[in-house]
Amino acid sequence: MYIPYGRQSIREEDIEEVVRVLRSDYLTTGPKVTEFEKVVADYVGAKYAVAVSNGTAALHIACLAAGIGAGDEVITSPITFAASANCVLYCGGTPVFADIKKDTYNIDPEDIERKITPKTKAIIPVHYTGQPCEMDAITEIAKKHNLIVIEDGAQVISGEYKGKKIGSISDMTTFSFHPVKPVTTGEGGMVTTNNKKLYERLKLFHTHGITREPELMDKQDGPWYYEQLELGFNYRITDIQCALGISQMRRLDAFAKHRRALAARYNQGFADCKNVITPYQHPDCLSSWHLYMIQVPADMRKAVFEKLRQAGIGVNVHYIPVYKHPYYQAHGYQDICCPNAETFYAGAITLPLYADMTEEQVDYVVEKVVDAVGSC
Ligand SMILES: *Cc1c(COP(=O)(O)O)cnc(C)c1O
Repeated sequence: MYIPYGRQSIREEDIEEVVRVLRSDYLTTGPKVTEFEKVVADYVGAKYAVAVSNGTAALHIACLAAGIGAGDEVITSPITFAASANCVLYCGGTPVFADIKKDTYNIDPEDIERKITPKTKAIIPVHYTGQPCEMDAITEIAKKHNLIVIEDGAQVISGEYKGKKIGSISDMTTFSFHPVKPVTTGEGGMVTTNNKKLYERLKLFHTHGITREPELMDKQDGPWYYEQLELGFNYRITDIQCALGISQMRRLDAFAKHRRALAARYNQGFADCKNVITPYQHPDCLSSWHLYMIQVPADMRKAVFEKLRQAGIGVNVHYIPVYKHPYYQAHGYQDICCPNAETFYAGAITLPLYADMTEEQVDYVVEKVVDAVGSC
């Protein structure tokens, strides 16, 4: 028995939706893409959505739509997947890392303020593990300094801040539908926004910068006519993937409920274990529980990790602070230090958590963790 850290949940009903598309006229950019965009936009309470090929593409077109370019600084968290910062580099901008908070592991609004310079153009808060960031504080800072906010919601779909679903608070929010994320399309992503201008730009950038919208074009040569207005990309998603996404979205609330119950069971299991720090939940936030992170004493982390892997538990570590990667070290980040991020990283272990995980599996993981850390 091997328990992975994350895994998709696919049922017959999901498979049937996909097969229906394979028998239909459109394999890509057909009715299922539009329907999936509407399903997600309605779910998160946003006016507009653009579905794309993956979460990284979503971040890239969001940065392009925001007009991020050479000379612009964008503040994000170091405890994230590299894509949250890479998307800024793709546009010629400079990622700047603000430290995380010790309790939530999310970006610290106070450190965002400290990192703001006249070059700062945007903030990319990451809802790490699926727990929303402190969006009131971040929104206030953005207003005060006239900054764009792009929420990296790759892990958060179903998560709520002050009773409101993440996806409509800031200028733009991006999602990922990779198989380990809360819902999947195999590969896939989306950007949601309430801003029509940004929506139009997102549409352009996700397909070569090309439009057929009469009101966006300089002239009208005939019914065949289209114009390339920007240098965009082919970041389109297929109808095949979106059919899976639509089916998965019907199951999202059930997935989320089960993840919450499993997280509560983990918390309870570790309640008396002083060598295990369980994830703190901010009272304003409802997490999607994409990841269940524990911290163990840093000098034990490696041994505990290895013991758990030997016991067939697919533990992981999310994440190595982004600026520590060789690429970043070689490109000007060698003197950067976010102390809270580094302390967190040193003791962090990701335990398995996914929609089809059972309570018995959680109990098994708890037992093995408690064994491994000893002296609880
Ligand atoms: C998964 C993830 C991404 C990238 O999404 P892909 O669909 O894999 O491209 C970006 N940011 C965060 C925080 C993620 O977890």
